[in-house]
Amino acid sequence: MRLFPLVFLFCASCVWAQTMEDPEVARARLELARLQGLVETGVLPPVQLEKAKAAVADAEDGAVMHRDIQQQDLTEEEADQLVAAAGRRFERRKQAFDDAKKLIEAGAAPQLSLGTSLRDLDFARKEYDLAETRARLAREIDEMARAEEALQARMQVAPADAASLAERFDGNGVFNPQIFHRVEAAFEGRFGHPLPVSANGETAVHRALGFDHRGRVDVALRPDQPEGVWLRQFLTANGIPFFAFRQAVPGKATGAHIHLGPMSTRLAE
Ligand SMILES: [Zn+2]
Repeated sequence: MRLFPLVFLFCASCVWAQTMEDPEVARARLELARLQGLVETGVLPPVQLEKAKAAVADAEDGAVMHRDIQQQDLTEEEADQLVAAAGRRFERRKQAFDDAKKLIEAGAAPQLSLGTSLRDLDFARKEYDLAETRARLAREIDEMARAEEALQARMQVAPADAASLAERFDGNGVFNPQIFHRVEAAFEGRFGHPLPVSANGETAVHRALGFDHRGRVDVALRPDQPEGVWLRQFLTANGIPFFAFRQAVPGKATGAHIHLGPMSTRLAE
């Protein structure tokens, strides 16, 4: 499945992380359980328990990151959770860095000890940026699906009026993987980079909206940008059906895309 370039940064752990407990979380929980007994019997001060609880929360946020950072089809809620988890991870690293700096300023730790905290902070900042990018893409995909939802609803109640929401070309009505590969190859040959596919077939977002998007492909191109104009001409010349969406909500430049194939049908209730 062709995704946005960012998504090529693949993490090996995300596949199993969806079905099993993350090992970092398991480790942090075990440590918390171990310390709980020691704090209750007064062997260790309560502050150790607080630290262990924070470590569990941090590992849980890390697990959300591992699971979702490379997911193509996050729902909006999952995207928000991802950014929130990355934000908390960053704040904890920032706090650790500030604490380490204070110790150095007080002469209680050597200057060198700041290096690790700084590296952790930099990494958390990059993770946060990545989470934000991922969430932005997820929202764009969501907007595209909503544009299709609006069109589908309009086609049912006022078909003559649907043209105001999207440009429709029925062509010969046929769209399949072989035709899609031809489109991809022609686009890449013309522009020297892959077709920016945002949704290939069914996604979680389409399912959540009750759509059957199987056998359809969404391309993240505005219909009037040069590549979008070329793509529409290519599809028209080859009789390939498409819908070109200029915006999801009138006046709002989001949700613009080109949908290849016939319009989606509603999923069976
Ligand atoms: Zn579509």
